[in-house]
Amino acid sequence: MALTIGVDVGGTKIAAGVVDESGEILARTRVPTPADPQWAVDAIAQAVRELKELYPDVAGVGVGAPGFVDRDRSTVIFAPNIDWENEPLQQRIEELTGLGTVVENDANCAAWAEFRFGAAADYEDMVLITVGTGIGGGIVLDGRLHRGRFGVAGEIGHLNMVPDGLLCGCGGHGCWEQYGSGRALRRYGREKAALDPIAGKRMLELNDGAAETIRGIHITEAAEEGDPLALECYAELADWLGRGMADLAALFDPGVFVLGGGVSDSGRLLLDPVRDCFEKYLTGGSHRPRAEVVLASMGSAAGISGAGDLART
Ligand SMILES: [Zn+2]
Repeated sequence: MALTIGVDVGGTKIAAGVVDESGEILARTRVPTPADPQWAVDAIAQAVRELKELYPDVAGVGVGAPGFVDRDRSTVIFAPNIDWENEPLQQRIEELTGLGTVVENDANCAAWAEFRFGAAADYEDMVLITVGTGIGGGIVLDGRLHRGRFGVAGEIGHLNMVPDGLLCGCGGHGCWEQYGSGRALRRYGREKAALDPIAGKRMLELNDGAAETIRGIHITEAAEEGDPLALECYAELADWLGRGMADLAALFDPGVFVLGGGVSDSGRLLLDPVRDCFEKYLTGGSHRPRAEVVLASMGSAAGISGAGDLART
């Protein structure tokens, strides 16, 4: 099976591409995600047909969906951003395109892309942590994507880190993503600058003096200049990420953690303190072999490449 089509379904856009066996994307298309859940299905099929016209030999389709996907890789159990519930996506796309289709969770697709073609290509066991608005993740063990009994493994953003902690979008309290995500970083900046406007001078300047609307880019820019309070925000974020990663290492013993998502674009600003904190919290301390911590390398292509490659497996 040489060429496949990978589709990355997001809450705002649907991106699709023709993927070869080395993960290269040979052609791409993208459309805004329709608000109606059934139109979203049609839009995916339309994107697939468009690419199939360019490459008539494509042998199958992999669709990465933002939600719970069943273990059979056929039904989207729940995807709140698209308003899908028990959506038989595999069957629908096969009917509409005539191509064999598999459906996967989108973070699993990204993890698979890093494992096959990206930052974790030299490892058999890896955990992808996407640090974006929230925290997402995917787990590969012994060279296989870890889906779990019901297909919904890897929801690492909702590990309970703080008993009775902050309310999470999932309805729980104290989830990891409330403390170790881009949204958390923003909160640290806003809180710290409001509490100490003198120390927060640089972050405030970058946002025309308003603490309550400081955004990640302001914190990152100030931190890159060496601003101590902005660096404190990153240190707090890294501390929470390191804690969770130490727990994941205790469970899965991966060879590498790959940090992806929008916040990882800040590079060493995130990577260096996360490495230190991971080491600090790792059970067994210096007696335990330590996983590498690296930045993701596939960028925005990960979703398409991973979905396309999973269509071959
Ligand atoms: Zn949660």
